[in-house]
Amino acid sequence: MSILKTKTVLVTGASKGIGEAIARHCAAKGANVVLAARDKTALDRIVSEIQALGDQALAVQCDVSDYREVNNAVTQAIKKYNDLDILVNNAGLIDPITRLADSDPETWDFAIDVNVKGVYHGLRAAIPEMLKTGHGTIINISSGAATGVLEGWSHYCSSKAAALSLTRCADKEYGGQGIRVIGLSPGTVATDMQKSIRSSGINPVSRLDWDAHIPPEWVAKAVEYLCGKAGDEFLGKDFSLRDNEARKQIGLPQSAK
Ligand code: NAP
Repeated sequence: MSILKTKTVLVTGASKGIGEAIARHCAAKGANVVLAARDKTALDRIVSEIQALGDQALAVQCDVSDYREVNNAVTQAIKKYNDLDILVNNAGLIDPITRLADSDPETWDFAIDVNVKGVYHGLRAAIPEMLKTGHGTIINISSGAATGVLEGWSHYCSSKAAALSLTRCADKEYGGQGIRVIGLSPGTVATDMQKSIRSSGINPVSRLDWDAHIPPEWVAKAVEYLCGKAGDEFLGKDFSLRDNEARKQIGLPQSAK
């Protein structure tokens, strides 16, 4: 039986891409899923498709840069399903891709609001609820950019490094109280984000073949894996799907590289 069965899972940035795949996978494995993002039309469409399986999905419009909206998503999840077992802090953005001297301070700032403060807001809203039950898993979707740098990605690299630091901080503070916090670095994934990266043409990632990217469903399988006992090895760290040994453990194909 899947570790996800009967669990309540809140996924931010679930209106498309990796977040959508995680929400669909969790629901297919028997979880109640709460999908949060700004695009309510997209969320409603995905939720109505999941609802064909049963009353196990809820859409909550939410901009993760606003703490009140993230807190509301946590409240709605608990109101409908009585508990919050798993939070996936997935919402993120990379646009606009531009070198530092050409960057716009306002859009640079917004990337931090979403990629850093969005993760903080999720932790801040979920941890007190998880402490009440003495258990919970929080997966922060990370990136190789948390530890490496690429031209044109100063906002993204800085924000993902800060998000990794939040993973480590949360594990240090609450790891001994039943709260499991893990980063998941997926490698490159075939989503709209990679389309943006490709159109920027600014660094080597933009020139990768499309078939070098993994499908978002593989990331969803990694989330399920990390929610189980096997994830304990990665508490307070980033787990990387670029690692062939990690892929083998999850039953995913090996990387050609
Ligand atoms: P995507 O296809 O562009 O989807 C991004 C998602 O984030 C959308 O659902 C979007 O929904 C949501 N989002 C953006 N800003 C938001 C905000 N202010 N509030 C709430 N939701 C927001 O990107 P993706 O590839 O699936 O990326 C998902 C995560 O994986 C990100 O954290 C990204 O950094 C990470 N990642 C991706 C790759 C990759 O190669 N694709 C690699 C490493 C890490 P709305 O617009 O509806 O709000």
